Amino acid sequence: MFRRPLIAGNWKMNEDLKGSLSLVRGILGGLNKSRDLPEIMIAPPSVALSVLAEALKGSPVRLGAQNMHWEESGAFTGELSAAQIKDVGCRSVILGHSERRQMFGDTNETVAKKLKAALGAQLQPVVCVGETLDERETQKTWRVLETQIRGALAGFAPADLAALVIAYEPVWAIGTGKTASPEQAEEAHRFIRGQIEKLYDERLSSSVRILYGGSVKPDNIDRLMIEPDIDGALVGGASLKAESFLRIIQFESAGTSS
Ligand code: PEP
Repeated sequence: MFRRPLIAGNWKMNEDLKGSLSLVRGILGGLNKSRDLPEIMIAPPSVALSVLAEALKGSPVRLGAQNMHWEESGAFTGELSAAQIKDVGCRSVILGHSERRQMFGDTNETVAKKLKAALGAQLQPVVCVGETLDERETQKTWRVLETQIRGALAGFAPADLAALVIAYEPVWAIGTGKTASPEQAEEAHRFIRGQIEKLYDERLSSSVRILYGGSVKPDNIDRLMIEPDIDGALVGGASLKAESFLRIIQFESAGTSS
């Protein structure tokens, strides 16, 4: 089944308004409209969302948030609801990033609640999963991925998950300069697809897009994108420079070289 590649940039807590606008202008100015582009998404800091929504109007770049709360409104200091991020122009949202799991208390249970709220608001959810170095070295990778996938994704109807995107991000590869080898990433992506098939069905597992994340750079994207189960990338550091993000967007792999 054809799965349109998706390249997403997670800016984390970087860039002020001026820098955000200049980065977006650099990306939009450098897109090569004459070639088939993947789907593109950027997730800037929430304070820049409404300004960037204006700048992105009419462009092929979707706007996403880096996180959201599952409740609709109320006394949740510092949080944003699905309706609020949608209202400022988001069409996507990253859920359960490992930094949120490790530093801000996200769990499989809260990711599941956020996923339900995101789907209810017709946001495209990008659910992050991935093992730590210790878990990989102690042969717990598959168990961890299974628990994260089941914990976050169980209990939906397959049709509800049509927009779902999963990002496999081994924690040991995020921001460390260590990328999983294309073979390691492919093996994990295949495992995740198998879990979706077990939980739901072959139709959903063969259509769901699974992104790889963890030190994706212009010099490793092409090799990763050759793998059949790698449908795109969630990019941190290298999404903060227009030039490197553009090169990642314009990856070369079988069938995409011009
Ligand atoms: C990320 O934050 O999702 C990420 C993969 O970061 P980096 O590309 O910097 O490793």
